Amino acid sequence: MRHRYLVVGGAGYIGSHLVAGLIASGHDCTVFDNLQTGHRAAVAPEAGFVLGDLADPVALDTVLSSARWDGVFHLADLSLVGESMRTPMRYLTINPGNAGRLIDACLRHGVSRLVYSSTANLFGEASSAPIDESAPISPASAYGESKLAVERMLLWADRVHGLHSACLRFFNAAGADPLGRYGEAHFPETHLIPLAIDAALGRRPPLTLYGADYPTPDGTCVRDYIHVSDLVSAHLLAMERIALASMRFNVGLGRGYSVQEVVETVGRIAGRRVPLITANRRQGDPAWLVASPARIMRETGWRPRFTTLDEIVETALLWHRNNPDGYGRAAVQHRQIA
Ligand code: UDP
Repeated sequence: MRHRYLVVGGAGYIGSHLVAGLIASGHDCTVFDNLQTGHRAAVAPEAGFVLGDLADPVALDTVLSSARWDGVFHLADLSLVGESMRTPMRYLTINPGNAGRLIDACLRHGVSRLVYSSTANLFGEASSAPIDESAPISPASAYGESKLAVERMLLWADRVHGLHSACLRFFNAAGADPLGRYGEAHFPETHLIPLAIDAALGRRPPLTLYGADYPTPDGTCVRDYIHVSDLVSAHLLAMERIALASMRFNVGLGRGYSVQEVVETVGRIAGRRVPLITANRRQGDPAWLVASPARIMRETGWRPRFTTLDEIVETALLWHRNNPDGYGRAAVQHRQIA
């Protein structure tokens, strides 16, 4: 069935892939984005686009009253762990404040379903065992704490007002559109896989490895890397599933790779060694974060299509090789001036 969706943050890395997925599935969708970190060129041409900010309640009212929305996807948070530890109050005020205005506007405009991009960073210091939805919540960073506040808001929006929501706790989003149309383009880039690829291709200085003294087999942090297209299918299935009731899902492959293993995989697939320097730990990074995706698989039938790190890195490499400036020099210059 064809639906009409609003994608808040649809010009960002995951949002742009989601919009392409919604269009490919035959849905109508409109993006609401302030383009602070997103790119206009990352939005599929078939989607509507509204330049707007979640800080602006009038802009929100205007977009939400412009159509009858079958659901809203919210992917527009500030999202950097390291940055959140340098400016915690910014994260703790902006993410919950923006989400509060969005949820309030959804309630006033009769939206009954919202899918929220949450994070594995809620779980803080976990053991090496895969993390399921019953694991203790204890955010490792101000970023994780700000996302937890939004999850709690959604709980009350359901309890009191009946707004059904899904909170998708992503583990490490990675990779790019297999057709090469969209990919990761952050300025500045802080994520491991794009930095390792660019270091291997000689476009950046050596990769800084944050900490080789963690209690893991090779001393580097272990993460569960999940392909962005598999996150898209998780969003679509979650949106359908919450017609019945609100849900919280951990979304990952259920398999961890250390930073060292990622670096080796990138080097092997790029055909060039990743130059590396080892530094101190980055604040807010837990040693292990590996998902148990059993619940989302059971409740929605979700199955990942990209099941190995090699496949994920191959799609990322295709994007970065063909798009050394991301969405173009104009986008980079615009960001440097802003
Ligand atoms: N990392 C690293 N060097 C970098 C960027 C990341 O060693 O330049 C490590 C980071 O400490 C973490 C892992 O790579 O253990 C994944 O970090 P990323 O920023 O990609 O994602 P996050 O886990 O913060 O969502």
